[in-house]
Amino acid sequence: MQGVKAIALLSGGLDSALAATLTKRLGFEVVGLNVSTGFCTGQGRCDTVLGIGGILEIPVRLIDASEEYLDVVRHPKHGYGSAMNPCLDCRVFFLRKAAELMEDEDAEFVVTGEVLGQRPMSQHRRALDLVAQESGLDDRLVRPLSGRLLPSTYPEKQGWVRREDWLDIQGRSRKRQLELADRWGIEEFTQPSGGCCLLLEESYARRVQDVFRRWGPDAVDREAFALLRYGRHFRLSESAVAIIGRDEQENAVLESFTRGRWTLTFPEVPGPSSLVDGNPACEELEFAARLAARYADASPTDVVTVLARKDGEEKKLTTTPLHPDDPRIERFRIG
Ligand code: SF4
Repeated sequence: MQGVKAIALLSGGLDSALAATLTKRLGFEVVGLNVSTGFCTGQGRCDTVLGIGGILEIPVRLIDASEEYLDVVRHPKHGYGSAMNPCLDCRVFFLRKAAELMEDEDAEFVVTGEVLGQRPMSQHRRALDLVAQESGLDDRLVRPLSGRLLPSTYPEKQGWVRREDWLDIQGRSRKRQLELADRWGIEEFTQPSGGCCLLLEESYARRVQDVFRRWGPDAVDREAFALLRYGRHFRLSESAVAIIGRDEQENAVLESFTRGRWTLTFPEVPGPSSLVDGNPACEELEFAARLAARYADASPTDVVTVLARKDGEEKKLTTTPLHPDDPRIERFRIG
């Protein structure tokens, strides 16, 4: 199959690496593709994908589609899964990106690591057909790991492969994939890709639902989505949310989100980086100061000074930390 090119979507997980490997072993020229959505939680995921490309000796293209992807999260045609994961629309989005690269690279088809019946929302038979159709790839979309169980695809119709060249893996067990990884020497892979998606995380999903409800999905921009990742979030009212860092790393990150928001700092005791987003009334700002002081190095009976600043305005608040058992802490918490 020298000269016949395929685009392999690489998630950084094992299945997509195996699908690319099998395609290469069948003699096709393979170009890897990883699409970044901005919602990945995997550490060093790009490195993993590039590492897999190195093992397979294939070039890998990395596309940052994070801005464009926000609309998939805001308005998924096929809805959300168990959290705020728009898996079907997400698959279609990835495949359209792969289809664009297929054109650019003069490739003939796209391969993915999808396995029939492995994931409830996106990998049952109807879902596989739907994404093939909506992506515009149709029979140019090949799932080598389950290919024998699925309708004939373009490479088969062209006589480049026989049906039995594909595999017949289905279901949630990873046994056969792990055996193949062992046999083909693929050691470098992350956990199954679904485990690395922020949109699957319940607490993040609750925060997204909260801002969608309050502001409407179109008002939630990239920065707002990013801020939902960090700190403890507390909804103080319809128009104000307090965000309080949980550790040094988060404190440092929150300091890059201060523009247009109230910041609360503790001049006399060590305390967390804290922000108030929205338009808090005076008493809400004071409550946020008490809430943030609850996580500072002070006891509930101490009197604590908190400086609240926003766009050149400064207020000096003198307060006592909220008692850790105050029921409003849990009542106001988001996610
Ligand atoms: S788990 Fe996340 S990355 Fe994976 S298909 Fe669903 S939305 Fe997309």
